[in-house]
Amino acid sequence: MDILTVNDQPGEYPNSSYYLHSTATPPPREQAAGELRCDICIVGAGYTGLSTALYLAEKGFDVIVLEANRIGWGASGRNGGQVHLGQRRDQGELEDLVGRDHARELWDLAQRGLRLVKGLINRHAIDCEWRNGLIHADLRKSDHVHSQSYAEKMARDYGCNDIHLLDKAAIGEELGTTAYRGGLFFENGAHLHPLKYALGLGKAAENAGARIFEMSRVTAIEPGSKVSIFTGKASVKADYLVLGCNGYHGNLHRQTARHVMPINNFIIATEPLGERRARSLIRSNAAVYDSNFVVNYYRCSADHRMLFGGGESYGFAFPRDIPGLVRKRMLDVFPQLETARIDYAWGGTLGITMTRMPYFDREQNNILSVGGYSGHGVVMASLSGMIVAEAIRGQLGAFDIMARAPKTVFPGGALLRWPFLILAMTWFSLRDRL
Ligand SMILES: Cc1cc2nc3c(=O)[nH]c(=O)nc-3n(C[C@H](O)[C@H](O)[C@H](O)COP(=O)(O)OP(=O)(O)OC[C@H]3O[C@@H](n4cnc5c(N)ncnc54)[C@H](O)[C@@H]3O)c2cc1C
Repeated sequence: MDILTVNDQPGEYPNSSYYLHSTATPPPREQAAGELRCDICIVGAGYTGLSTALYLAEKGFDVIVLEANRIGWGASGRNGGQVHLGQRRDQGELEDLVGRDHARELWDLAQRGLRLVKGLINRHAIDCEWRNGLIHADLRKSDHVHSQSYAEKMARDYGCNDIHLLDKAAIGEELGTTAYRGGLFFENGAHLHPLKYALGLGKAAENAGARIFEMSRVTAIEPGSKVSIFTGKASVKADYLVLGCNGYHGNLHRQTARHVMPINNFIIATEPLGERRARSLIRSNAAVYDSNFVVNYYRCSADHRMLFGGGESYGFAFPRDIPGLVRKRMLDVFPQLETARIDYAWGGTLGITMTRMPYFDREQNNILSVGGYSGHGVVMASLSGMIVAEAIRGQLGAFDIMARAPKTVFPGGALLRWPFLILAMTWFSLRDRL
């Protein structure tokens, strides 16, 4: 099965997505054709590819982006829009995994990523409905005990005074549900409209001089001192190749496929609820994610819909009844939405790694591959563009910090990894129900 076509019409944004219906999408760009030449060729026009293109074009490099579908067609135009702090693994886990010094470097880089996303939005005047505030909601007592010690640790060891502990009463005031034992409020977390952000990055990259070709699927790569990249109608010769296909990677690059696994995730949008009703669900209009292994995440849209995400699937194809799957999870948290109509329901594919740390790799010095943000891509994929651009310009510091994080191949390698993933994920998701 082909991950790029199994759930979607080639070249078309998912029609059932709220984001498509709340965005003025530009007309399609041209397809790549003939023999092309550039300094850097980037595959994939999501946050990874577009931010890489932007930084490099701004530095005067000749950049070509080849996108199989449309700008922001992948996870970047379909996600929950949550802007997280830090890496996917929390700082305590990271210290255990890589030691205190490296964990600190990873935290500092993620903080740089957050500043960078805000900076990009301001500098390029990207109207993407940015709202401050992110809540981590604890379902179990043990989760809340962990939140307590985490807030203390982050204040003590990392000087963070923007992470606030919420007890049961405080989270009950914040959210219109009795589902939680407490949580954390991240003052500097946020949410945004993901497709508008992706399209804004694309426009900024083009304004800086990058050439973006749509409907230009890369089918083969030939490594060498100059890399050759082939689509159905074009061949591109480049000094560097950057792979930013993340969950939609398929088997284009065997080494990446062994480390980055696609999983599907789903979101629904209710009808507009009106501002008063929306604020009765999330008082401060923050985004929220919970402590389940298969995380529920939600927020209200600018037109006051509940956008509720959750539920994963580990085969290539999406389940038939996405609204039914996600609505059930939403009603467990907000039974008062029983009568709310579901206007949109869609799915997307993200890339995860075994360690949940992003995958950064270089082959023969001129093929760079990044991805596997494991659900934290709004900040980390935007940051990875800058890190890759720096590496190409000879500054390897940040790239090395990311690449030094442990990399574990999925058991079964590129071809046989599915059965292992399905077994492992099913076991973990069962734990959510215990
Ligand atoms: C439902 C869902 C909810 C999520 N929620 C959040 C969230 O709330 N917060 C958060 O931080 N992260 C979230 N994520 C993750 C986040 O969206 C991703 O990590 C991020 O968008 C990855 O960006 P990317 O550019 O690397 O990949 P993508 O945006 O997936 O882009 C990859 C692109 O590569 C193209 N491509 C693939 N193969 C080829 C080829 N052979 N030739 C040419 N082009 C190709 C694809 O068409 C695609 O457009 C979510 C993901 C999903 C699916």
